[in-house]
Amino acid sequence: MANPNPFKSGLQQLAKAAELMDLNEGVHARLKLPKFEMQFGIPVKMDDGSVKVFQGYRVQYDNSRGPNKGGIRFHPKVNIAEVRALAFWMTFKCAVVGIPLGGGKGGVIVNPKELSEGELERLARGYMRKLAHNVGPHRDVPAPDVYTTPQIMAWMMDEYETIKGMHAPGMITGKPLSVGGSEGRGYSTAQGGVYVTLELAKKMKLKKGAKVAIQGYGNAGAYMAKILHKKGYKIVAVSDSKGGIYNEKGLDPVKVEKYKMQNGSVVNCPESAKSLTNEQILKVECDILVPAALENVITKDNAGRIKAKAIVELANGPTTPEADAKLHKKGIVVVPDILANAGGVTVSYYEQVQNSYNHYWTEKEVLAKLEPTMVDSFNAVWRAMEKHECDMRTGAYIVATDRIAEAMMARGEA
Ligand code: NAD
Repeated sequence: MANPNPFKSGLQQLAKAAELMDLNEGVHARLKLPKFEMQFGIPVKMDDGSVKVFQGYRVQYDNSRGPNKGGIRFHPKVNIAEVRALAFWMTFKCAVVGIPLGGGKGGVIVNPKELSEGELERLARGYMRKLAHNVGPHRDVPAPDVYTTPQIMAWMMDEYETIKGMHAPGMITGKPLSVGGSEGRGYSTAQGGVYVTLELAKKMKLKKGAKVAIQGYGNAGAYMAKILHKKGYKIVAVSDSKGGIYNEKGLDPVKVEKYKMQNGSVVNCPESAKSLTNEQILKVECDILVPAALENVITKDNAGRIKAKAIVELANGPTTPEADAKLHKKGIVVVPDILANAGGVTVSYYEQVQNSYNHYWTEKEVLAKLEPTMVDSFNAVWRAMEKHECDMRTGAYIVATDRIAEAMMARGEA
C-alpha cells in the first residue's frame, strides 16, 4: 500500500476539529495552505573532488502567533508533502502548549550516514547559505529533527552569523551548550512525553511497572526509554531502522543504548530475548506504545491488531486518520504528537528566550517551567476532549486552533 500523504492526513485532522468547534471559514481556509515554501539545490564539494547537488526544502507554514519554528530533517525519503505536513503540525504544536511561535520545517534528501563529517558540515553550511536571508530569530527558527544533531545546528548558526556579521544564537535551537544551547534541550522531547504519560497514567489508573514498547531509538525514543525506566516503567521492546528487540522481563535502556552506540543498532543486543521487526513491535503486548521514528506507521491495516491500552506519539504523524478512527473505536487512547512531543519545541523556545537575554538557566529551572506547561496543556486537551466528546487528537486541535484563530482575527488576517 502506498503511504498516505501526511499533509492530507493533517488537513483531515484539522477538518474534524473545525466541524466540532464551528471554525470561522476564513481561518480554516488560511490554515489549509502554507504561507511560504522554498525548494532549492545545495551544491556540496565531496571529498573525492566531485560536486553533488542535494535537494533542500523549507516550509514556513503559519506565523500568526510568532516566528515560524521547526526542525530540519536529513533523510533519504524527505519530500515536500512530508515537510509541509511537519510544518503544519508545528503550527498546532506551538499553539497547543501556548508558546508564542508559528510553524515551520525543513529537510534535505540525503542519507547522512553515507557522508563523511566534512561533507556533512559542508551540506549543513550550504543549506544555511541558501536560507540565511529568509530565517532568523524574529522570522523563522530551525532546530534538529531526524538525523540532524546539535553539531549540525552549530555549523548552521556559524554560517548564518558569518553571513550576517553578528552574533545571533537565537536564530536556531538545539545547539550545543557551549554556543548558546539550553540545559535540558537534548532530552526535552522525551521529558515532555514523560510528563504527559504520567498524567495519562493517572487518568487511566495504570500501575507501577506498566509495560512500554518504543519504535525508534534515537533522540526521542532512547531518552523516553531511559526516563520512563527510571520512573518504574518496564521497557519490553525497542527498535531502530534495522529492527527491534523484545524481552518480557524488561530491557535496561542504558545497556541497550551503549550496545547501539558500539554496534550501530539495537538488533542482537544481549538484553534481548527475541528479535522483532518494526511492524511486529507495534503489536507487542504492552500498556503504552510509543512510536518515536517516522510518520504513517500505524495504519488501517495494523490498527486493529494493536494491543496497547494507550499510544503516546513522540514521532510526528505516526498514525493515519483511518487508523485513528479504528483506535478510538477500540477504546485505545492516543496522546497526539502535537501534544506528546511538544516538550522539544517548548525547551527550544526557552533556549531562544535565554539567547535573547544572554542569560542562562539551570537544568532545574528549565524543568520547573517545562513540567507545568506540559501538565496544564495535557489537562486543557483532556477537558476539550470531554467537552466535545471526541478523541484526544481532535481535542488538541480544538485547543490549538482556537488560539491560532484568535491571533489571525486580531491581525485582521481572517
Ligand atoms: P533521531 O534521528 O534521533 O532518531 C530516529 C530513530 O528512528 C533512530 O533510532 C532510527 O534508527 C529510527 N528509524 C529510522 N527509520 C526507521 C524506520 N523505518 N523504522 C523504525 N525506526 C526507524 O530522530 P528523533 O529526533 O528521535 O526523531 C524521531 C521522531 O520524533 C520524528 O518523528 C521527529 O519528527 C519526532 N520529534 C523529534 C523531536 C526532537 O526534538 N528530536 C521533537 C519532536 C518530534
